[in-house]
Amino acid sequence: MVSTVFERQPGAASSIAAMLEGSTLSPFWTDDAPGPARPALAGSHRADLVIVGGGYSGLWTAVMAKERDPERSVILLEARRVGWAASGRNGGFCEASLTHGHENGASRWPEEIDELDRLGMENLDEIEATVARYGMDVDFQRTGALAVAVEPHQVEWLEGEGVLDAEATRALVNSPTYLGGQLSPDDTALVHPAKLARELARVAEELGVQIFEESPVVALEDGPVVRTRDGVVRGGRVALATNVFPSLLKRNRLMTVPVFDYSLMTEPLTDAQLADIGWEGRQGVADLANQFHYYRLTADNRLLFGGYDAIYHAGGRLKASYQERPESYEKLASHLLTTFPQLDGITATHRWAGAIDTSTRFCAFFGSARGGDVAYSLGFTGLGVGATRFGANVMLDLLAGEDTPRTRLRMVRERPLPFPPEPLASLGINATRWSLDQADHREGRRNVLLRTLDRLGLGFDS
Ligand SMILES: Cc1cc2nc3c(=O)[nH]c(=O)nc-3n(C[C@H](O)[C@H](O)[C@H](O)COP(=O)(O)OP(=O)(O)OC[C@H]3O[C@@H](n4cnc5c(N)ncnc54)[C@H](O)[C@@H]3O)c2cc1C
Repeated sequence: MVSTVFERQPGAASSIAAMLEGSTLSPFWTDDAPGPARPALAGSHRADLVIVGGGYSGLWTAVMAKERDPERSVILLEARRVGWAASGRNGGFCEASLTHGHENGASRWPEEIDELDRLGMENLDEIEATVARYGMDVDFQRTGALAVAVEPHQVEWLEGEGVLDAEATRALVNSPTYLGGQLSPDDTALVHPAKLARELARVAEELGVQIFEESPVVALEDGPVVRTRDGVVRGGRVALATNVFPSLLKRNRLMTVPVFDYSLMTEPLTDAQLADIGWEGRQGVADLANQFHYYRLTADNRLLFGGYDAIYHAGGRLKASYQERPESYEKLASHLLTTFPQLDGITATHRWAGAIDTSTRFCAFFGSARGGDVAYSLGFTGLGVGATRFGANVMLDLLAGEDTPRTRLRMVRERPLPFPPEPLASLGINATRWSLDQADHREGRRNVLLRTLDRLGLGFDS
């Protein structure tokens, strides 16, 4: 077993404790950009389109439904508050990839990967254009991304355009852990996640969408009829944008599992601290390990540092208490100091976790039900900031019965395999997680379990 750089050069225990001591257990983004409260659904309504879920999937569906047909009446029902879940607690890496990276897409759909990459880039360009068209205040910056190798075996994985040696990588972002890197300048933008949700909701309402909060949908009946505790909407088509939460369709119950991902947000860096790190290009950064970190700057120069642990809790439930996991935050604090020893003494203002909607093919799947009246788009596996807009377009295509370049894709027509029911799910996922950690400690070498899963095109990721 080979130790990782984060184990060889951990942060000092006193610095870790000091970093976390005053932090609030709450997502920085939604604290920084709370949205307006909206009423709950009450009584009986009619709408041409009912959307269930007020994260990016539901909100993009609402905006584009109105753009496609301004006359259509649209109601969006959100169980709690708009953008409170994954859409308000992610890293804000808005990537072009629809397939959780080119390699994953190329291995599954080699004949259409060029088209998938093209549609992904078009989707990102259209997000940028939408932000500009409606004057959306979401801190959108097309910074590009920097993938960094922090172990010798990861350097060998770097190939293709934009590969940098250690010196050139550190000239961009100054971390002593970098042994090489790869810069992709166009395929990633950074956004303020909660502002994106808040602004999409604003635009949707300005286009005439009615949004109800604190309105969990408890039943989806034929008709279709959509019921909440105190209200009902009849008449229209239904788009299910419920992500990792229990699906209203039985067929989707085993299709995703919630995997908890952890983040820290620091206080704003001082000019001197920033000068020490460089980072003039403000790229989103991620390392190449199986258990990887992702990090970025905010508009006011805080450092978001997240990832590494990806925790599945037996039973697949979504308990709020899962957010508190001191060992995960301590690990992140230590790894932050390994990455940027220049920041010794910095404090975190926020720590939080969110549930990632993991599917066995590592990217979203789509479909319709109830004779075409209901469509769904789920399973973005930690890469949904950009791809949810593509999924929203697919749902609208399916509900309209339209044949489009999207609906013709095998990637859109095929469903992944489900996860097994418990207790097999826990056994399989935890064995896979253990194996991925082992591979990070064995110069990337994958054991029999991982090689078998690779061959079957199955797995577990965050
Ligand atoms: C910590 C973390 C970091 C991440 N980082 C990134 C990143 O940097 N880049 C990236 O691309 N992706 C990232 N992701 C993934 C990304 O955030 C998600 O893929 C994306 O936000 C999914 O959007 P969504 O609308 O489908 O789901 P959500 O934002 O989860 O919204 C679903 C909504 O549906 C509502 N709902 C569910 N059931 C019902 C019901 N019965 N009735 C009414 N409402 C219901 C929920 O209350 C919720 O608000 C990250 C995720 C996490 C958790």
